[in-house]
Amino acid sequence: MKFIQLILDFFYEIFLGCRHSRLTRPFTIQNETYKVCLDCGKQIFYSPVTMMPLSAREVRRLEAARVGELKVIPAAASGAALTSDHEPRIAA
Ligand SMILES: [Zn+2]
Repeated sequence: MKFIQLILDFFYEIFLGCRHSRLTRPFTIQNETYKVCLDCGKQIFYSPVTMMPLSAREVRRLEAARVGELKVIPAAASGAALTSDHEPRIAA
């Protein structure tokens, strides 16, 4: 039964995030505002303006901005052959 519980916990954390309740207050370090779970150490990012947790999309944008500036270059302008989907390419 413990094996099944571990599998359920794994998928719970993937889809719903941390399920612990002992969290720090929100704080800002290096322009990132977040709470930290005192049980597992997971960071829950917050908006410093609304003081609400960020959505998964906003967290992905934050992580992309942390890596570096994203440049959206149309496929034709970058010299690459056009693809069938005609979507712009994202270059780091
Ligand atoms: Zn946790």
